[in-house]
Amino acid sequence: MAELELKNLYDDFRDGKTLKAYARIIAEDAEKLERPINIMEVCGGHTHSIMKFGLPQLMPENINFIHGPGCPVCIMPKERIDHAYVLSQQPDVILVTLGDMIKVPGSNGSLQDARAKGADVRFVYSPMECIKIAQENPDKTVIFFAIGFETTTPMTAVLLNQVIQQDIPNILFHINHVTVPEVMKELIDSRDVHVDSYNNKIDAFLGPSHVSVIAGSKIYEPFPREYGRPVVVSGFEPVDVMEGISMIVKQFVEKRCELEIQYKRVVTEEGNLNAQKLIDTYFDKVSLFRWRGLGNVPDSGLKLKEAFEKYDAEILYKDVLPIAEIEDHKLCICGDILRGMAKPPECTIFGTACKPTTPIGSCMVSSEGACAAYYKYGNLITS
Ligand code: SF4
Ligand code: SF4
Repeated sequence: MAELELKNLYDDFRDGKTLKAYARIIAEDAEKLERPINIMEVCGGHTHSIMKFGLPQLMPENINFIHGPGCPVCIMPKERIDHAYVLSQQPDVILVTLGDMIKVPGSNGSLQDARAKGADVRFVYSPMECIKIAQENPDKTVIFFAIGFETTTPMTAVLLNQVIQQDIPNILFHINHVTVPEVMKELIDSRDVHVDSYNNKIDAFLGPSHVSVIAGSKIYEPFPREYGRPVVVSGFEPVDVMEGISMIVKQFVEKRCELEIQYKRVVTEEGNLNAQKLIDTYFDKVSLFRWRGLGNVPDSGLKLKEAFEKYDAEILYKDVLPIAEIEDHKLCICGDILRGMAKPPECTIFGTACKPTTPIGSCMVSSEGACAAYYKYGNLITS
């Protein structure tokens, strides 16, 4: 019964009639626009939803989706994947990470390759699984290669909290958490700096709801105020996305520039204060974090606070971890895609040399990367 109710709820947010009704509202409003607008969905989860449900087909010609850098797998630079690879090779280490990270190639290969060569690499759905792994393997050191945006950072903080409280001696952390507003600022700042060479034009942002469930909608306040870009925090179901787009278009028609929440079902201005407190307890900002394809982005990464250095694998293993920065394959245009300057089919090896089975760049490796979404659902858009 509960399953049936859940399915009904879910169906409503995918309902074709509602989607078409929103498409009509957007089209009517779009006729009043003075110029076309480009809306960047920051998160790969949105990209996936937009492509899966063929939403570009429902847009009038003057509304364009551009895809942003919101996938922690896509934006991980190769040298940090090499860190994970090298850590997995250390004696008595079990390297644990989340999701698609295991498939992304570093310069020595992927973590999957490391595993094929005998390393103990595991992937988990929740960081808390590290505790069981550590308890079952008291002679080994479990290193959690932590990735993700504001959404997953609290889970890493909860794990560290448990490690400290339960005095678990054999769990360490390699932190790769990044933050969304800082990279959005970078996308606008870099476009303004390189205005002649960059052909993107981000007019508005669709903000991911799950990030704001934790961090609140307030993290986007500077965008309308200082950057002149409206932000609508939106859910991931197609009806949510269409409503979010409609809210953005209305702002342009009414010449407003505001921060709004579409996903009021769960998102508040303040977010989850307990989660934020836990993050502040354990993490500091790093002044620069290198994003794959985007380069160094100020204040966009986190690290463990000095007081918790004894849990920091990046410090404890610093003598064996490589430091050189590694560039991407020269034909791969993931950087341009992550900046919203290009779409996946513009890459010369999209769907030929680079496919989900033989990915060259991370946007194809990650199931939420823009290239993977275009490869999987692209026929919906072109047919
Ligand atoms: S993991 Fe997926 S859903 Fe989460 S931020 Fe990245 S792209 Fe979005
Ligand atoms: S198709 Fe492959 S090589 Fe091209 S941009 Fe996408 S991930 Fe990179």
